[in-house]
Amino acid sequence: MPNVYFKPVDSYSKTKEVNAAAAELLKMIVEKEEIKLHSFIPLKVHIGEKGNKTFIEPKNFDGIIDYLEEKKIRTAFIETNVLYRGQRNTMQNHLKLAKEHGFTRVPVLIGDGEYGEDYVLVEINKKNFTHCKIARSIAEEKQLIVLSHFKGHMLAGFGGAIKQLAMGCASKGGKLEQHSNSIPKINIIKCRACKACAANCPEGAILVGKRARIDKNKCVGCAACMAACPYKAIFSNWIASFITKRFEEKLAEYAYAAAKGKENIYITFALNITRNCDCVGLSMRPIAKDIGILASTDPVAIDQACLDMLDKRENRKVFRKGRYTLQYAENIGLGSRTYDLVELK
Ligand code: SF4
Ligand code: SF4
Repeated sequence: MPNVYFKPVDSYSKTKEVNAAAAELLKMIVEKEEIKLHSFIPLKVHIGEKGNKTFIEPKNFDGIIDYLEEKKIRTAFIETNVLYRGQRNTMQNHLKLAKEHGFTRVPVLIGDGEYGEDYVLVEINKKNFTHCKIARSIAEEKQLIVLSHFKGHMLAGFGGAIKQLAMGCASKGGKLEQHSNSIPKINIIKCRACKACAANCPEGAILVGKRARIDKNKCVGCAACMAACPYKAIFSNWIASFITKRFEEKLAEYAYAAAKGKENIYITFALNITRNCDCVGLSMRPIAKDIGILASTDPVAIDQACLDMLDKRENRKVFRKGRYTLQYAENIGLGSRTYDLVELK
């Protein structure tokens, strides 16, 4: 059974404490799990969409980088281009935003080229995909430290290590393959034609007359409009998803491909827990108290542990959707939903 190491942190704003906890967890997992560290280990991060205020800021990764530097291990931040237009859509724009968001201590690499064209087809032979399009710079590495922010997600239900692997390591085409059945729907009774969705749609896929309408030929299923609608008039086609479970399965399969053959370390920040993800370029308020930082070599176990802790803390299932992802991920051999929690005092 995999171990999940946990260090409580009661406030995201305590940067020193966050850094110390993350570094302690990394040291602990390397020693206890006898992990052989490679000479170069990229840090898979999410640099946060422009306007988002709750992504995990790079100043919180200093403790991890200090630890690697002490061990004489080279590192870099690594990211991939997103599907929709905007600040993270091309390498140049992405690098500019990374700098604005403070990702300057180590080099930033955009793993799938200028426009998302540079990827490796990783063979997995699973139910939905035989091959997955993983960003070349990620596919070619043997070890990553996957730094995830645990929070909600409009389509996936929640996001943690699996989401960071699946969407975060896929090239643009890989993201599209995962999203392709995820075009949202508009409830025309609730819609008040306020145009907030159109203003936030990165693809110009929404036309608003008396009511909003989504052009299916342009929509890439990014879900930005769902988060932007103030009247909750846009919803994902969860009925189809619920029946077919395709989106969750695709996520798990892409995560499997991104992790295949690697000796990864997963560190998840269960801090600043928001309803929506860091791709949403809006200011959001946390919906739960900070929990702390977790580390594991198992992406399924660490996500399960985050959910379990949040459920326990809030005495309810805060994120109801997306739990099948973990079940399916376990079924295909990505990891284990049962784990031993090792709490660092
Ligand atoms: S944001 Fe919501 S209410 Fe406003 S136009 Fe779009 S769907 Fe309608
Ligand atoms: S319509 Fe919504 S889901 Fe589709 S591209 Fe626009 S914002 Fe994204």
